[in-house]
Amino acid sequence: MDCTHCGVCCTETEMLLSKKDIKRLEARGYSQKQFVRYDKQGYATLKNRDGYCVFYDLTNRRCSEYLYRPSGCRVYPVIVDEEVGIVLDTICESRGSISDQEKAVKGKRVVKLLEIIDCEAADRRV
Ligand code: SF4
Repeated sequence: MDCTHCGVCCTETEMLLSKKDIKRLEARGYSQKQFVRYDKQGYATLKNRDGYCVFYDLTNRRCSEYLYRPSGCRVYPVIVDEEVGIVLDTICESRGSISDQEKAVKGKRVVKLLEIIDCEAADRRV
């Protein structure tokens, strides 16, 4: 896809994190306290700072951990709508540049990812 780096998707993010995502970013030297928040249901999401994801570099308008970013950021703007299924997030101005094939491939990935994240959240609740 042709990302314009508008930063909309990194604004007030609620991006879910898998254990693998957390480990990968911890290996970069961050503590969980710096970038993870857990909700009451056991889900881990990215923290925000000043309205943006903690990893968003406002000066350069880029993800400062692009190579190590969470899986959900990699498949974005392909997301799962609980009622409709696999869709493109309408807030992404570049969503029109995604081919049907890319949407299908990323769609499979996001469904699998959400299954893993759901299991991990359930484990935290016990
Ligand atoms: S990790 Fe990077 S790509 Fe993902 S929301 Fe944060 S700044 Fe954006």
